Amino acid sequence: MSESTLRIGLVLPDVMGTYGDGGNALILRQRARLRGIAAEIVEITLDDEVPDSLDVYTLGGAEDYAQRLATRHLQRYPGLQRAADAGRPVLAICAAVQILGHWYETAAGERVPGISMLDVTTSPRAERAIGELVTDPVIDGLSAPLSGFENHRGATSLGAAAAPLARVRSGVGNGVDGVEGAVQGGVISTYMHGPVLARNPELADHLLATAVGAGLSPLDLPQVERLRTERLAAGR
Ligand code: GLN
Repeated sequence: MSESTLRIGLVLPDVMGTYGDGGNALILRQRARLRGIAAEIVEITLDDEVPDSLDVYTLGGAEDYAQRLATRHLQRYPGLQRAADAGRPVLAICAAVQILGHWYETAAGERVPGISMLDVTTSPRAERAIGELVTDPVIDGLSAPLSGFENHRGATSLGAAAAPLARVRSGVGNGVDGVEGAVQGGVISTYMHGPVLARNPELADHLLATAVGAGLSPLDLPQVERLRTERLAAGR
């Protein structure tokens, strides 16, 4: 952690934040504060350059046009790329999976260059994937099933440098090879809205522990467990 206060970057909430994805930053801040760790959210809008000095970054999903504006901004101000190169954790949801890749193709067949933080590419599926998504994580440090809500047209293929986040139990996910999300260095990306960190506290603490560079004391939050149980059941 760079300073005594954990600084959580909420990247482009003005154009990327479908289904309350901005809530991921709130969850990180609250789970830090409940452990006595001072934390604040730094909003980075289209009016701001993207700083490379924050401790953890979150990006949400976006509709197609907003996704383009975000892509252009992240190309113009490459602070997120520098932060990821320095090992800072990044959480990228849905449209952000696509933007962080090499390119994504729109439903109209146009190929839009991404920012190549992830070795992935995205092409349109025949049909939009909409509904509950349940997966089993395959990365070190996560063992509990993940749940989220997906709504996307893109199907994402992973190159050799990117590993899947999870295997799909029900729902679509990446729409390629039965896997979901992409992980590369400190970047974790997923099609799961929810917000995903509200539904999956283990993932939230995984990012938080990387950001603070230390293990975290457990939190006993029965209401979070109730939400998990309910949402996992909804996926079947
Ligand atoms: N526009 C992208 C797609 O449809 C991402 C959608 C989203 O972020 N919800 O694939």
